[in-house]
Amino acid sequence: MDTQAAKQQTTKIVVLGAGRMGSALVRAFLEQGHTTTIWNRTRAKAEPLAARGARIAETVLEAVSSADIVVANLSDYAASDRLLRTDAVTRALRGKLLVQLASGSPRLARESAAWAREHGVDYLDGAIMATPNYIGQADATLLYAGPKQLFERHQPTLRALGGLTLHVGEDVGHASALDSALLVAMWGAMFGVLQGVAVCAAEGLPLAAYMAHVKTLAPVIDGAVVDFTTRIEQGRFAADESTLASIESHVGALHHLIELCRERGIDHAVPDAFDRLFNKAIAAGHTQGDFAVLHRFMR
Ligand code: NAP
Repeated sequence: MDTQAAKQQTTKIVVLGAGRMGSALVRAFLEQGHTTTIWNRTRAKAEPLAARGARIAETVLEAVSSADIVVANLSDYAASDRLLRTDAVTRALRGKLLVQLASGSPRLARESAAWAREHGVDYLDGAIMATPNYIGQADATLLYAGPKQLFERHQPTLRALGGLTLHVGEDVGHASALDSALLVAMWGAMFGVLQGVAVCAAEGLPLAAYMAHVKTLAPVIDGAVVDFTTRIEQGRFAADESTLASIESHVGALHHLIELCRERGIDHAVPDAFDRLFNKAIAAGHTQGDFAVLHRFMR
């Protein structure tokens, strides 16, 4: 083993939280040979990890005192704040790295970083773009924000959690911001298909056939997304000779969907939200605009 690898593996890691994700994080650290301690409010959930070689800490103070790196993965920031912001635990954290991996917001990340700075704690804010079954795999993405030098120093250790361990900015809020921006893209697709499944069920179309068509449509959707994001970047909002479909033609088709949903008693909250945005653009005179013009009505 070379010196760098040996140094990494003597880095003592503590994970706070043995939920679905926290347990996966511990397993991944152990698999890479890291000395790993787990603390969980409900001790029983940590026991299967002890069987794999993790040490169970009885208290948060004991856990943090033994660590070089503390990885917090409780339900939210408030839960870890309550545990870490006591005098004794905060003192034990001084000079160590705290990595917050619970889902949060840019504001929470910035507040945590300010608190950490004030108490002499190194801080990285992370966002896990994977489910527990992907943790530790080459294609698992974890985004980190905060001081780049700090990230680079610890990247070899953090890479145990996923091959795509990426620094996304010195602004500590940027991992959470990207998390939200990526999750909404995922929900957009998931809710779209959910609506389509309801339409197919009401109209007697087989789900398997629908899913085959969804797959065929995927490149068309990708192309449209690339097209309108390029236009937003270039400030090209008015329809032109390369516009794929005007606001008017999008809205015409959307109204057919809403009518179908009304007739069939299908919830239409999702298409109604699209309609609300289209209406803002139409009211401002953009009926013949490109889809990209909707960007102006998002704030
Ligand atoms: P989970 O299975 O519900 O686990 C929640 C963990 O938080 C448990 O260890 C629980 O302890 C602990 N906890 C909650 N409130 C607490 C409190 N007041 N004091 C002490 N411990 C407390 O959730 P999860 O799926 O592991 O998610 C953990 C975090 O990872 C969340 O922020 C989630 O958004 C994020 N995340 C999850 C996924 C995923 O696919 N699961 C993906 C990306 C990000 P007990 O065992 O004692 O209840």
